[in-house]
Amino acid sequence: MQRDLLIRSGRVFDGRGYRRADLLVSGGRVQRWLRPGKRRPAEASTVLDAAGCLVLPGAVDPHVHFELGVGGGRTTCDDFSSGSASAAAAGVTTFIDYTAPEPGEGPLSAFRRRRARADGRVFCDYSLHNVLIDWRPGWRRELAALARAGAPSVKVFLIYRERGWQSDEGRLLEIMSACAAQGLIVCVHAENEPLIDHFRQRVDSLPRRQRPGASGLALSRPALVEEMAAAQAILLAGATGAHLHLVHLSTAGAAALVGAARQSGIRASGDTCPQYLVLDKDRLSDRDGHRFACCPPLRGERDRRGLWSALAAGMLEALATDHCAFDLSTKDAWGGHLDHLAFGLPGVATALRLTFTHGVRTGRISATRWAFLHSEGPARRFGLFPRKGNLLPGADADVLVWDPEHRERLPAQSRNGRDFSPYAGMTLYGHPRTVLLRGRIVSREGRLVTTRAFGKFALRRPPQRTGEG
Ligand SMILES: [Zn+2]
Repeated sequence: MQRDLLIRSGRVFDGRGYRRADLLVSGGRVQRWLRPGKRRPAEASTVLDAAGCLVLPGAVDPHVHFELGVGGGRTTCDDFSSGSASAAAAGVTTFIDYTAPEPGEGPLSAFRRRRARADGRVFCDYSLHNVLIDWRPGWRRELAALARAGAPSVKVFLIYRERGWQSDEGRLLEIMSACAAQGLIVCVHAENEPLIDHFRQRVDSLPRRQRPGASGLALSRPALVEEMAAAQAILLAGATGAHLHLVHLSTAGAAALVGAARQSGIRASGDTCPQYLVLDKDRLSDRDGHRFACCPPLRGERDRRGLWSALAAGMLEALATDHCAFDLSTKDAWGGHLDHLAFGLPGVATALRLTFTHGVRTGRISATRWAFLHSEGPARRFGLFPRKGNLLPGADADVLVWDPEHRERLPAQSRNGRDFSPYAGMTLYGHPRTVLLRGRIVSREGRLVTTRAFGKFALRRPPQRTGEG
């Protein structure tokens, strides 16, 4: 039997703000909110002091890639164990990864294979989005089964034609119709491939001396590429009644499109990631610029400002990471060729501190909005709420005790000197003092304190069906 635990003297997130309260945790759930200082030692055998700290729901990261093969024999450098360990140490208690279907493989089989890899190895609770790189009408029934199995979401790419993963408009329309009928949310990577081809040809036709190196990535995928694809996906969601979620938005324009769609009653939502809020595309022209490759690419100041406003104004309702970490040797093996760049940046270890430092401390978003975007927002959108993403009695006791005053300069090198981190050397504020997963302490002071990977598959509920309001 798990012992009771009291989190004392913190300011606790209640969905609308922070209240002074003591939190009683028992049986893995939040039991009660107590008036501060009203100690009940008989009920709580462990007491955590949260004086001076914010007490928030553990973060829900709805977009990570652990243990992912990306073609050409390359794999991300975090597996489910190491990736979830650094997530848990940083304050993430639930993540959603993706299935990795083989060509022609049905979504149900891909789901089972991926779960077999993750189960028993994760330090956070987790779920999976079902990647569709292909479509057969017979898969409608599999989608219904996946929704019943607690994984009611699919992921569709509008790019990666050369890998055979691309969905064109017709296929996207069909998938959206099926998902609207079966109760699944459709996550879309929104970049328009024909436009990329067009801009890429311009880059490639430059005389050799003027070739832009890794910054050719940003030149061949300007904001219009994302905005065009986002608009198409939104129109199709409107036509089919599907729930659409646009992942890792990098442009102010696409965020505004999501905001406008929501106002007109289309069931659209979107998220963005710290790299698009903090890093500038100028980094791509540095000597090590190729290491900063991600897709969509980094943007400029105007887009960052627009994304922060969209987060503050409720146009976007989640922060994610798109965690996709590579070691330096993989990053450096691009040979000067845009097609061989390793797309992806690490995120889970630094996301909360980056958004706290650059969002909350600068006043771009409130501490309440920040907590919402990292927990309740994604938990609601992806069917984990109210078990996850809040601290009201009955919720899973996934708790992050956050010290807002702590300041740390990140080491100039990554944890093992081999992995690439775009944030090395930055000074960040805020610190995960203690992290609980279902009432058990998983990390203290940013360090994992358990060797048992007791994270579980978290069942998600489908989004509201079309017509139910
Ligand atoms: Zn991704």
